[in-house]
Formats: sequence, C-alpha cells, structure tokens
Amino acid sequence: MQLDTRSVHAGRDDLTALGVHVPPIDLSTTYPLPDVGTGGASYDELAQGNGPDGGSLVYQRLWNPTVARFEDALAELEQTDGSVAFGSGMAALTACLLATVAAGRPHVIAVRPIYGGSDHLLSTGLLGTTVSFVRATEIAAAVRADTGLVILETPANPTVELVDIAAAVRQAGDVPVLVDSTFATPVLQQPARHGASLVLHSATKYLGGHGDVMGGVVAAGRDWVGRLRQIRAVTGGLLHPLAAYELHRGLQTLPVRVRAQQATAGKVADWLSAQPAVERVYYPGLSDPLELVGRQMSGPGAVLAFTVAGGYEAAAAVAGNLQLITHAVSLGGVDTLIQHPAALTHRLVEATAKPSDALLRLSLGLEDPEDITADLEQALKPVRRPAA
Ligand SMILES: *Cc1c(COP(=O)(O)O)cnc(C)c1O
Repeated sequence: MQLDTRSVHAGRDDLTALGVHVPPIDLSTTYPLPDVGTGGASYDELAQGNGPDGGSLVYQRLWNPTVARFEDALAELEQTDGSVAFGSGMAALTACLLATVAAGRPHVIAVRPIYGGSDHLLSTGLLGTTVSFVRATEIAAAVRADTGLVILETPANPTVELVDIAAAVRQAGDVPVLVDSTFATPVLQQPARHGASLVLHSATKYLGGHGDVMGGVVAAGRDWVGRLRQIRAVTGGLLHPLAAYELHRGLQTLPVRVRAQQATAGKVADWLSAQPAVERVYYPGLSDPLELVGRQMSGPGAVLAFTVAGGYEAAAAVAGNLQLITHAVSLGGVDTLIQHPAALTHRLVEATAKPSDALLRLSLGLEDPEDITADLEQALKPVRRPAA
C-alpha cells in the first residue's frame, strides 16, 4: 500500500478486532505477574531487548504497548524491521552513541553541519565518544579501526544542504551510518532504502507536528532495535505513552502536512530570492548541486534558511519585527517559526563551524503563503541593502 494509506492505518491493524476505533492508551507503570517463574522469564526477554511475545509486560521501562504501536507504525513508514522511541531526539541520539561506545568502537565521524545539540554532545565527548567532524566527501579518509558510527543529517540543520546517503554508506564501508532524517520525515525520504543502518527523528518536530509533544525515535534493523531497547531499559530515556499516542496520531496527517508545508516553502523561497534585503536563500528547491531531489528525496522539504544584508543586527531586527510568524526555536509544526541559529539552536557550536550571524531559519507551516510573505515583507522593510 502507498505511504498515505500506511500513514493512516499503520499500528492500528488490530483495532477492529479489539472493538475500538482509536488505539487504547496503557498508562500502567507495572503489570500483575502470573507467578514468579513466568515473571522472571518475561523480565529476561524484555531486558535483552526482545518483545513480550505473549509473556508479562513486567514494568513500563521494559515495554509499553502504546509506545510499541507508534514504533511499529514508524518502522512501517521507514521500511525497517522496527523502531525504538525515546523521550526526545537527544535521548534517541544518546542511546545510539552509548551502543557505539559499548561495542568498543567509540570514534564517531560526523558530517557537518548537524543540529547544534548533536554537534555539542559530540564535541564534549560526554558519553565517552571521540569525534572527527568532516565534510561529506571526507568520510572514507576519516575511518579508523575504532570508528563505530558515521552520523549525518540530510537536509542538514540549519542550511538544509543535502547529503548523498548512498555515497556516504559506500565511504563508510562496514561502519554503520546514522541518518538524522528529522527535516525530511519518511514522507520525503527513507534513508534505510539507501543503506543507512539507523534513521533518527526528533519526533518533536514534524511527526508530532503541533508543537505540543516531545519525542525521539530510531528506525533500524532487528539487531540495532534489540540493542537500543536494551539501552533504553537500562538508562530510562523513555517516551511517555501519552506522547506516543500523540505521535502515532501525528503520523496520520504527516503526508498531507508535509506536502502542504513544502508547497508553501517553495513559494516563500522564490519570493525571498527576489527581495533586495535578502542576500542568499538556502533551499534544496533552489539549489541542489548533487541532484538529490527526485532521487533520494521526493521533494525539497518545508524548511529554508536565508541571510539578510546587514549581518546580525539586521537578522535580529527581522526576527523581532515579525507579527504572524512566531520567533521561536523548533520546527515542523503547523505554524511558521523563525529563529537565529547562531544565537540559539547552534549557539554551542565552535566558532569555526557556526552558522553565519546573518542567517535565519524558517520552518513553514500551514498558513496561506501570501500571509507569510506579507509578514516577511513588513519585517524586511526597515532592513535596507547597504549602498554598493
Ligand atoms: C530538534 C532536533 C534534534 C533534537 O531533538 P529533541 O527532540 O529536541 O531532543 C535532533 N536533530 C535535529 C535535526 C533536530 O532538528
């Protein structure tokens, strides 16, 4: 079945048999055990990262059926064996890094740019990893005997550059590649089809889609799923079942939202390109040097970035002048958000890799595009391109 159909029905196949129309929410933190022997056997299975397979669910940190429904649905959209959900995107990345360290290969290759929080986590080495930051063409040269993971983002936060996933996988050899696909969603790209071992989403963004739920999820093959469940059970970076319910519901409208928001992004990118106060617009729909739109990604997405003439002062003024567009971090919701990466999401990135002070990132929502451009027009008006 097509993605739109799967988005609506995935993780819900048993509902009719249960006699309900929407998924039940299970909030139990603990579960009654039939007897000590059976309880212990179930504990063993779940603690090893396996499913409950008819046994007791034991304890919410080991298994939750509402979370499992969301995980099944997301895996179906990403076309992987399974997925593992966490309390945030950063908790999801943390689990992947802990698995890498636990496997005895703590060196990570990260293709810049990536989300500022991920960049910071890797730079600090907080979890026992070491990092080499590279460009996408430099992966092969950076692989060492102790390299356990390659991390890349496409489209990359904040300048929405696209990275060729299959080419990165080829360069990585037998080192697993993690693709942060938050900006693309499974609607526009399925990295596992191009060889990625791990597909990470900050579910806080498009999957939830309404700015009211945090979560993270990693879609992967069977072995990785087991390993990540084990780490989640031990470290406790859980997704709450109510959040899982919201994220699962979010998947039902995901294709419609993403395509509508993407159409608006295309119009706004064109409009911005014609503004004298705008120096450069970053959007894969305008510039796609590797020709990945149509090949790796079915469309250019709904996030863009642009620099304004006049540097930091001008960019800060634009963010402050907007009335309809909300000045706030995050992205992927039904309302349009703008933020200044160098001051906010990428604040902790080292100076040499920081985005330009003149850069603003715009996540398009579901408003009428003309209302968005009208708001941008009044916000840009006081910002004049300096005389040549
Ligand atoms: C927001 C974001 C994250 C972190 O996710 P949280 O849910 O905020 O923890 C990771 N990667 C990308 C690309 C993001 O935009």
